[in-house]
Amino acid sequence: MKVTVAKSAGFCFGVDRAVNMVNELLENGKSVYTLGPIIHNPQTLKDLEKRGVVVVDSPEQVPAGGTIVIRSHGVEQSVLERVKELQLDYSDATCPFVAKIHRIVSKAAKEGKTVLIAGDANHPEVQGIRGHCDGACYIFKNTEELQNITDNILTEKDKPICVVAQTTFSVSEWENCLKIIKRVYTNATIFDTICNATAKRQSESALLSQQCDIMIVIGGKQSSNTAKLRDVCGQNCTTYLIETADELPLAALKKADCIGITAGASTPASIIKEVLDTMSEFIEGADQNLTENNAEGNFEEMLEESLKSLNTDEKVHGVVVGITPSEVYVDVGRKQAGFISASELSADPNVKPEDIVKIGDELDLLIMRTNDQEGTIMLSKKRLDAAKGWETVAAAEENEAVLTGVVTEVIKGGVIAVTNGVRVFIPASQATSSRSDSLEDLLKKEVKFRIIEVNRSRRRAVGSIRSVLKDARKEQAEKFWETAEEGKEYTGVVKSLTAYGAFVDLGGIDGMIHISELSWGRIKHPSEVINVGDTVTVYIKGLDKEKGKISLGYKRAEDNPWEILKRDYPVGTVADVTIVGMTAFGAFARIIPGIDGLIHISQIADHRIEKPQDVLKVNDVVKAKITEIDFDKKRVSLSIRALSEPEEATEENTEE
Ligand code: SF4
Repeated sequence: MKVTVAKSAGFCFGVDRAVNMVNELLENGKSVYTLGPIIHNPQTLKDLEKRGVVVVDSPEQVPAGGTIVIRSHGVEQSVLERVKELQLDYSDATCPFVAKIHRIVSKAAKEGKTVLIAGDANHPEVQGIRGHCDGACYIFKNTEELQNITDNILTEKDKPICVVAQTTFSVSEWENCLKIIKRVYTNATIFDTICNATAKRQSESALLSQQCDIMIVIGGKQSSNTAKLRDVCGQNCTTYLIETADELPLAALKKADCIGITAGASTPASIIKEVLDTMSEFIEGADQNLTENNAEGNFEEMLEESLKSLNTDEKVHGVVVGITPSEVYVDVGRKQAGFISASELSADPNVKPEDIVKIGDELDLLIMRTNDQEGTIMLSKKRLDAAKGWETVAAAEENEAVLTGVVTEVIKGGVIAVTNGVRVFIPASQATSSRSDSLEDLLKKEVKFRIIEVNRSRRRAVGSIRSVLKDARKEQAEKFWETAEEGKEYTGVVKSLTAYGAFVDLGGIDGMIHISELSWGRIKHPSEVINVGDTVTVYIKGLDKEKGKISLGYKRAEDNPWEILKRDYPVGTVADVTIVGMTAFGAFARIIPGIDGLIHISQIADHRIEKPQDVLKVNDVVKAKITEIDFDKKRVSLSIRALSEPEEATEENTEE
C-alpha cells in the first residue's frame, strides 16, 4: 500500500498567522474574543475554548478589558469602525490577501465602477469584501448566477466594472466565469484574487486523486475550502471527508492500494499527524510506505519545509500599503504579498510600526524568505538598515567619528544603543561619566558615542559614551580657564564630599571648597552644610592654572557672625542667649550661630555661687547683657547679674 500526503496539506499562511495571533494574546494573559470562529476546525476551536477563547457575533458582546480578534476572513468596514468606536483592544488577523481585495473594491467603488464578486454570498469573507465596497456590487457563485447578472441586472455592457474572487473560489469555476465576463463586458478590470495557497492545494489534490484509489480529505465539515477539496478529489476517486482520525474508513482503506491524503487550510498539522499515526497502526504497510515517501518521517517538519523556499539577501524596493500593530504590508510590485513583521522593522524593540513608517512610504528591504506556494514574501527593513548602517559604524571606528543613537536596552554589563539600524554595546564602564550614575537613566535617551571596538566577522561593535563626555568636559574646561579669575562667581553641583571639604563641578572642571570655607561656625563634616547633588553658588578664592587646581569660597562676608554682632548687638544689648557649655570660671552662651560669649561666674547671679551649675544648665535660654566685645581676640563678655543691678554697680563689679 502506498500512502501519499499532499505537500500543500494543512494550515495556510493566513490561518497560521491568525491562530498564532490568538496564541500570542493568550500567552500575554489577554481575555480573547474572536469575531466568529477563528478557524473552521472543531478540534482546534475546542482547544482554544478550553484556554478561555470566547467566540462572539458582534463587537458589542466583548466586555471591557477583552481583546477582540478579527479572523483571517476579514470583516466589513462598518464592523471595524464599530470596534474602534467602542474603543476595544483589538488584533486584526485579516489575511493580507483578503485585505488586498478590500482595498481593490474600495478603490473601484470610489472610482464609480460596479463591483462583481465571484464567491459565496453567505461566506463571511465575501460579506466582508462586500462591506468595503461603497457602491453597486453583485455576487455570483457560478456561471449560472453570473449569466443572470449579465442578462438581467448589469445589462450595460460598456459600464466600467471591477471583478474579484473570494480567495477560496474554485479555480475552474473562476476560469469559466471569466470567459463569460470577457465576452460580455467591454470595460472590465479583472483581479485574480484566488489565493495561491487555495489554488495550489486544489490542483495538487486533484492530481493526487487521479493517482489514488481513495482520497482522505481532513478538515472541518463547515470549511468551504475543505468542501471544495472533497468535490475536486471526488471527481477522480472515492473521497472521504473526515475531521479526526476516529472517522477514518479503515475497512475501505485496508482494501486500497494507493491512498492520498490532503487537508484544508484550517487543519492543524497535529490532526494530520494523528490520522497518519492511526493509519500506520491499523493498516498493514502504510507505515513503511509513508516513511519511504517522506524521507525523514517527521511530518510536521516536512510540511513546514515544503511550504518554504529560501531566497535570502535579495534587495527589493516596496511601498507601504498597510500597517497593523504587528506587521507592515508592502507592495513590492510582484504578485506575492510582502510583509515586514514588527520585529523586523527596527533594531529598537520599543518602537511601534506606526512610529517608523506610514502608508505610501517607499522602502528598501531585504527578502528574508519567499513562499511561492503561499505567494508571500517575508521582508526585513531592520536587516538592510543594519547592513547599510554597519558601514557607517565600521568607518566611525576608523575615523573616531561621534555617532548619535538611542539607548534601547539596559543589559547585564552595559547598555545597547541603536545607531543607523546597528546595535552597539556600550559597557557600563563606558556608558556614563561616573560609575555611580545609573544606567537606567539612559534608557530611551539619545546619546552620543564613539566606536571603540569592531568585530567585523561577527558584526559586533562596542561604543563609549564616556569618551565623548570626556571630550566635552575638556572643551568646557578650556573655556573655563580662559575666563576664570579670582572672585568670579559660579553655580555648580556638589559632586563629592570628603572629611576636608567638598568638590564642586563647575561645568567641565571641579573646584574644592575647604571645610573651613563652608561655614563661619565650627563644623565637623561638610555634610553639615551641603550634600552631594546640591546646586551651590561659589566664588573662586584661588587658582593654579598649571596644576589645574581651583579653591572655592562658599561662606559670605555678609554672613560673618562678627559683622552681624557688630551691626545688631552692640555693647549694652540684652539678648536671649543659650547656654552651650560650662567651666569652673563661668558658662558659655550662644548669642548668634558662630558667636559664643562668656558669662563669668561672678556675673551669673546677684549673690555668690560655688559653681555655674548651681544656677545654669546646658540648653537653658536666659537673658544676658553684652558687657564687652573684643573684635581682635574674638571675645564677648556677658552678664546676667547686670540685669538686676544699677548701671554703676555693674561697671564697678565688671572692673573688679
Ligand atoms: S486561504 Fe489564502 S487568503 Fe485564505 S486565509 Fe489562507 S492564505 Fe489567506
